[in-house]
Amino acid sequence: EKNSMKVQFVSQSINEAFARVVVSAFVAQLDPTVEEINDIKMAVSEAVTNSIIHGYRGKENGVVEVHCSYEGRVISIEVVDYGLGIANIDQAMAPLYTTSLEEERAGLGFTVMQSMMDELEVYSECHKGTTVKMKK
Ligand code: ATP
Ligand code: MG
Repeated sequence: EKNSMKVQFVSQSINEAFARVVVSAFVAQLDPTVEEINDIKMAVSEAVTNSIIHGYRGKENGVVEVHCSYEGRVISIEVVDYGLGIANIDQAMAPLYTTSLEEERAGLGFTVMQSMMDELEVYSECHKGTTVKMKK
């Protein structure tokens, strides 16, 4: 049986924790292991953080959406923003690639999403936005 939900929130960093919690509460209906929940939380965190800091460059009135569904035990999550977009997706997904000048950014967000989830797809258009689709 299929179940789905969608949440929408503004691009403030405080909502990273909200996104993690709301997704874990939704997938908790499947009785996942602690490890599965933690992987999903980490992946959602990375994607939402990217939308906020890269997609909207810290502008706090951008819209971020998180869509989540499951069918059987397969969980699908989409994180969507309508921000700056990514010019070169392959380059952006390469380990250690970052456009951030802040020292705490390692350029490992996509690498983390890839290792936590079974499938990762990124769609993006410059000045239209970015969609990150993940499955586990
Ligand atoms: P870290 O995640 O380790 O803190 P990072 O965010 O720079 O560093 P990734 O998450 O792997 O590393 O993202 C790589 C690059 O892809 C970013 O530096 C940014 O240029 C681009 N990017 C990622 N997500 C988005 C997005 N939603 N909108 C625009 N650009 C993005
Ligand atoms: Mg990142």
